[in-house]
Amino acid sequence: MSVWALLVAAGRGERLGLDQPKAFAKLGEDPLLAEPLRRLDESEWIDRIVIVAPAGWEEPAILLAEELACSKVHSCVAGGATRSESVRAGLAEVPGDALVVLVHDAARPLVTEEVIGRVLQPLSEGWDGAVPGLRVSDTLKLVADDGSVIDTVSRDGLYAVQTPQAFLADVFRRAATGEATDCAGLVEAAGGRVKVVEGDTRLLKVTTADDLAKIASWL
Ligand code: C5P
Repeated sequence: MSVWALLVAAGRGERLGLDQPKAFAKLGEDPLLAEPLRRLDESEWIDRIVIVAPAGWEEPAILLAEELACSKVHSCVAGGATRSESVRAGLAEVPGDALVVLVHDAARPLVTEEVIGRVLQPLSEGWDGAVPGLRVSDTLKLVADDGSVIDTVSRDGLYAVQTPQAFLADVFRRAATGEATDCAGLVEAAGGRVKVVEGDTRLLKVTTADDLAKIASWL
């Protein structure tokens, strides 16, 4: 089966407080984007990669792919104002005969071969999509704007969901309209069956400078 990866990297990353987009923040010596790009390129599961870069940053992204000698990068396109729009821009590059689309946040650099395998497996067992998730372990509270607790929410059955997320390409193409904070949300809204598989604490999403430092220390 042909597996196309969309590496979405078009977020601005304002909370990092840098003057370049998050994907080009430094993780060690290289831009953040280098780590997930190299890992997807080396993956035995992935056939082709589409990079979705911040508008105006397509050329630096392609140059980076060349520097890393990535052999699977098909194209690099500019993202949109929301994550869902960026995903649609990438999906437009995927040919009609692709069987699987795997979407990964560049902001989660430490993607592993094991988690890619885990999200692909359910697609051959009748599922439309699969996503990695971690059971929520903290107590959850609903809190008002003034900080007062409204309610304590049961955490039974609650998972924090990560990427990479894998979908049957035809299902995903039909579902990829509208807005959601992850791709599985689009597929669920269209009536698709999505399975949660074991996630990985190292798939932490870079939001703040502390997250970058933590991930650099894990490398
Ligand atoms: O903003 P958020 O944390 O949801 O970003 C998750 C991933 O989606 C990041 O890798 C970011 O670069 C990407 N993104 C994007 N286009 C946007 C917003 C986010 O490609 N407009």
